Order: sequence, then structure tokens, then C-alpha cells
Amino acid sequence: MNVRHPGFFLVLLCATLTISSAWAQRVYRPETRSIEQISEHVYRWGSDNQYGIYVITDEGIIVVDGHYCESGTVEWLKEQLDERYDVPVRYVILSHDHQAHICNSGIFADTAVGVGHANIVPHIVGENRDSIYPGITFEDELDLTLGGVHVRLLYFGPTHSDNLIQVHIPDENVLVAVDSAKGRTLFPDFRDMEVNNQLRVMRILANLEDAAIVLPGHGPPVTQDAFIDHHDFLLALKELVLGHMRDGRTLQEIKELAGAAMMEDFGDYEQMDSNLEANIVTMWDYLYRYREPNLLILPDEAIACTEDSRQCRTSMP
Ligand SMILES: [Zn+2]
Repeated sequence: MNVRHPGFFLVLLCATLTISSAWAQRVYRPETRSIEQISEHVYRWGSDNQYGIYVITDEGIIVVDGHYCESGTVEWLKEQLDERYDVPVRYVILSHDHQAHICNSGIFADTAVGVGHANIVPHIVGENRDSIYPGITFEDELDLTLGGVHVRLLYFGPTHSDNLIQVHIPDENVLVAVDSAKGRTLFPDFRDMEVNNQLRVMRILANLEDAAIVLPGHGPPVTQDAFIDHHDFLLALKELVLGHMRDGRTLQEIKELAGAAMMEDFGDYEQMDSNLEANIVTMWDYLYRYREPNLLILPDEAIACTEDSRQCRTSMP
């Protein structure tokens, strides 16, 4: 080993750390399991900074979501509900199809029926999700009443997935907005997001009545300001990337220019270092499918054009 190049050790160490962290199993912490009363009938449960809720009534329990597959927290919740109450779980509402939010929800299938948006079914079946099957589905809105407690399920079109719903308990001023109330935290990326509708829905939710308490899927309870914070970030990123694409810049140029501008204006948001680049790339991808550049291309040029990231602004007439 050449001791005149200590930097080699550092590079080797960094490479080793990167590889090992990429392959590391996520560690779950049972000591973080909690159940917190939010309002008269609404309780929040979860662990590892991820949460569902349940609604307790005289006639049964409504659970929203499962949990990470390996956390063991759904099994723990079932034990807790059995200990605390003498009514069964009657409904399991699935906020959306993402596995990390619905895993192990089938544990309640002996007494409960699954409820979700109609679009959730092909994802659950096709991706072979570990989830209760949604025996009740709806298109726009579903009102569930159990034991006198009114729960509204709202769908505003594709946003974060094509099947994400909001769970509203208006009489208790509670809105369960899993993966919607992002606040000042970045999504990993926008792989299955309908960005323009997400912006519209953030404005709707920010102004929804009887929703003073907002429960996100991750992090502590928040307010409707969380929708505005996420909206402002998303709109700024979209406008920046779109502007650069219209100016004919490459994806590489856009990553640098939009990255610097977003750091300047939103540097206090969480997970900027880890997620901003993937946010820019997937926003570019969304906008590639959103717009039509002025210049024509031939079909066999499309792939090369895309790979060159120039939005096909070639010299074609
Ligand atoms: Zn999600």
C-alpha cells in the first residue's frame, strides 16, 4: 500500500460505507411503538416515525392502514386493541397501495372488510401486496358511519399514486392525510405522482373545512400549513424545471441550475441533500410527458433524443 496517498484509504472507506448502507436492512425499533389519543374517537398508532390511526366506536373499530412489513407494529396493534376494547375491527381503510403503508393489514380480515379507492385493486393484486383485500371500493367519495361516528373518504384524482385518499372525521376536526401533508420534507421522488393535480389538491386540502388537526403518515401531527409548504416547493420546482426545458437545456444542466436555485430558496426543507436530485430528475420525466416541444422529430429519433435529454430540440425543421 502506498502510504503517500492517504486519500486512497478515505475513498476506500467511503465506498465501503456507501455499499454497506445501501444494502443495510432497515432496523425497526419496537420501543417507539405508541398509541396517542387525538380526539374523542380518533387515536394515532405507529412506530418508527410512521403512523396509521384507528377510530373507536360503540359498534366497532375502523383502522386506517397497516405498517412496514417487518416492523411487527400491526401485530402489536391488534394485541392492544384486543386488550383495550371489546368490539371488533370492522373496517380497514387503505390510504393508498404503497406496501410500506398497508403491509400486514390482512391480520384484521377475520372481522373486518378492507376499504379503498377503486384504483387500488389492480396495484394490490398486480404487485402482490401483503394487504387486506379492499372488498369495498369507491370512485369519488364514501361516507362511512359506525357507532354514530362519521368518516368521510375523499378522492380528488391521481396525486401521490392514482389511488391515494384522504380520511376526514369532520365532527372531530381531524384529517388523515397520509403521504399528502408532507410539509417541509421531500418525497424520495415523483415516480407515481400526477404533479399538476397534486398542486390542485394541496390547495383544496389547505382550505378544507373542519380539518384543523392534520395527521400525516410520517412525523408528528401538523396543521393545514403542511399542504401549503409542500405546494410551494412543488410549484417552484416544476416552474424551474419547465422553464429550463423550454429553453432547451439538458437534464444535466437542469440538475445543476435547478438544484442550486432550490437550495437557495428551500434549503431548510428536510432531505434536500438526499432527495433533491431525484426530485429534479423525476420532475423532468413528468414534464417530458406533459409537454410537446415546438420542433418536430422522426419516430426513430425519439429515444436518442430522450437519452440526450434535450427534449428533442434538434435541427429538424
Ligand atoms: Zn406512499
